[in-house]
Amino acid sequence: MDVRIGGTHFPLETLGPGRRLGVWFQGCSLACAGCMSRHTWNARGGTRVSVPALLELWGEALEKGAEGLTVSGGEPLQQPDALAGLLAGAAGLRDEAAGLRDGAEGLRDGAEGASTAGGTDGADLLVYTGYEPEELTEGQKAALRHTDAVITGRFRVAEPTGLVWRGSANQRIRPRTPRGVARYAPHQERESTGARLQAVVDTGAAVGLRLYGVPLRGELAQLERRSKEAGVSLSDPSWRP
Ligand code: SF4
Repeated sequence: MDVRIGGTHFPLETLGPGRRLGVWFQGCSLACAGCMSRHTWNARGGTRVSVPALLELWGEALEKGAEGLTVSGGEPLQQPDALAGLLAGAAGLRDEAAGLRDGAEGLRDGAEGASTAGGTDGADLLVYTGYEPEELTEGQKAALRHTDAVITGRFRVAEPTGLVWRGSANQRIRPRTPRGVARYAPHQERESTGARLQAVVDTGAAVGLRLYGVPLRGELAQLERRSKEAGVSLSDPSWRP
């Protein structure tokens, strides 16, 4: 199965706990005002890759000690079949790596879904979605079956927040498994204390600056201003219409 993605990065350190593999799905029709990732809106943009190729990256990340997988976008739930395949495969590799498969308690029943393992060991699987739970179709709910936690809600520019891993105050961390509760419940009301943005410079035909994370209000405008003062002009920033 194929999926359109905007990119991947390891180690990602600003969207979830620890060092993680980040996968950004391509395509989002929710069009939140103030979205910093407008380059991921076009469902025909990005790159088409196979889910097994992403799982290979996940396997390599686990070997390097990844503490989690973060799937963001774009809107991951606008490619629900690919998301389901990615998360099912990622949970299986995680459980194998953590030696959990034999001890797995099996799937929990019910709408909340479950990971393949009932324990709290091993890397966690986190998905960001702009949807609220009550908006999800049955297919989208099923796609989240293997997640340990989901961060939900549109980005609302008028509701700035310092809450860790969230861009606006309405967004909620929803743990779904014992692992998710252990990793995420302590952070539901926590303000971030470390860096909220991770900058990675891409050197290719043109130098590109990639920012991973959720900025505080005004942080991106400040970045543009400071870059200009330093003689560096940012062309086509992804947060500009
Ligand atoms: S903030 Fe997220 S949900 Fe909103 S438009 Fe941007 S990518 Fe889509």
